[in-house]
Amino acid sequence: MVKNSSRPIGRHFLHIPGPTPIPDRILRAMDTPIIDHRGPEFARLAKRCLEGIKTIFKTTNPVIIYTATGTGAWEAALVNTLSPGDKVLMVETGQFATLWKVMAERLGLQPEFLKTDWRTGVDPAAIEARLRDDKAKEIKAVCFLHNETSTGCLSPVAEVRKAMDNAGHPALLMVDTISSLASTDYRHDEWGVDVTIGGAQKGLMLPPGMSFNAVSDKALAASKTARLPKSFWSWDDMLAMNKVGFFPYTPATQMLQGLAVSIDMLHEEGLDNVFARHHRLAEATRRAVRAWGLEIICKDPKYYSPTITAVLTPEGVDADAFRALALDTFNISFGASFGRFTGKMFRIGHLGDINDAMLLGALSATEMAFSLAGVPHKKGGVQAAMDYLVSAHGGTVKQAAE
Ligand code: PLP
Repeated sequence: MVKNSSRPIGRHFLHIPGPTPIPDRILRAMDTPIIDHRGPEFARLAKRCLEGIKTIFKTTNPVIIYTATGTGAWEAALVNTLSPGDKVLMVETGQFATLWKVMAERLGLQPEFLKTDWRTGVDPAAIEARLRDDKAKEIKAVCFLHNETSTGCLSPVAEVRKAMDNAGHPALLMVDTISSLASTDYRHDEWGVDVTIGGAQKGLMLPPGMSFNAVSDKALAASKTARLPKSFWSWDDMLAMNKVGFFPYTPATQMLQGLAVSIDMLHEEGLDNVFARHHRLAEATRRAVRAWGLEIICKDPKYYSPTITAVLTPEGVDADAFRALALDTFNISFGASFGRFTGKMFRIGHLGDINDAMLLGALSATEMAFSLAGVPHKKGGVQAAMDYLVSAHGGTVKQAAE
C-alpha cells in the first residue's frame, strides 16, 4: 500500500463548485505593488473594471462592485430595494436559496418560500400562478438562484421573466448568478432582471471577497423609496463615487487588478466559447456518472447545471468519508453535501479555468476513489467521458474489435 506523503504533491485538484482554480495570469496580475486608491492609476483601473464587468452581465446599466463575498451582495440587493415587512417570493431550490431566505427574514422582510424537493429548478408556471393570485400586488420581489450550487440545478431566467409579465405583476426580479456568471449564458438587460447578484470566486476565476449587483432602472427607482436600513451597502454612495473612478471606502485594489485581467481572458476566449466549454465538461461529467451507475441529483435534464454535478452516493455509503479519502489519497477536493442530502452526495465542480484534461484527471481520481472506498459502482465512467469529449471535438469513437 502506498503511504501518502505528508506534503500534497503536484497541483491540488480543486473540484469544489467555487472558489475555482485561479489562472497564473490572474495571480500575476494581483502580485503587483499596491497603488494609491485615490490616484489616477487607480481611477483608470476602476473604470476598466466598472465598464468591463458590464459586458459579463450583459448590461449597459451600472454594476456595483463590493468588497464582500456573495452573501454581502445578497444583502445589498434586498436592503437597497425593499422596506420592512415587504413580501418577497423565493424558491427553495436548495441550501443557498434557503440561506438567502433566512437572510430576508432576519432583515424584516416576509419571504414566501415555494417548495421543491431540492432536485429541480424554478418552475415559471408556479411563479406565474402565485403572482396571479396576488391581486393586491403585495409581493414586491421575486428572488431566486440562476444556479443552485448545492444541488446543480439551473433555472430558466428568461422564462420566469415571461411568467411575471404574463401575470402582469410589477414585482422586482432578483437573480443570484454566483455559480453561473461567466460560465453559462446570462443577459441582465435582455432578460429584464432588476438586480443580478454575482460573485468573484467561480466563473470569474478570482479569489473570494468580491461581489456584484447589476441593477436596472426600475431597481434604481425602487432604491429611492426603499426603507430598510443600509450604510455600507448603499448603492447611492457607490454610484456617485464610481462615476469618477473611485469608491466610497478603500477598495480591494488587488482584486480589481485580478478582475481586469479576468474580464480580458473571458473575452479572449470568447464568452460563447466559455459557455460551450462549460456545457461540454458538464455533459462529460454526467456521462461518467451514468456509466458508473450512479444518480445525478438534478432529476430533469432541462435543469442540468453546466457548472456543478451533484452525485447521489449509493445507500449505506458515507459521502463525506468518501470525499475525505479522495482528498487524502488523490489530492482532490469535491463539494460537500447539505441539508436533506447531508452525507448522501458529493458535488463535482467543473467551472472556471478548467479544461478537458483537468476534468479527466478529476474523473479518474473519482473512479479510483470509488474503488478504494468500496463505493458500489460500474467501471467505465472515465471512458464514457473520454468518448464524449472525443466526439465533442469532432472525432469518431471506434469500438475495439471483440
Ligand atoms: N449564492 C450562491 C449560489 C452560492 O453558491 C454562494 C456560495 O457558494 C453564495 C450565494 C454565498 O456566497 P459567499 O459564500 O461568497 O458569501
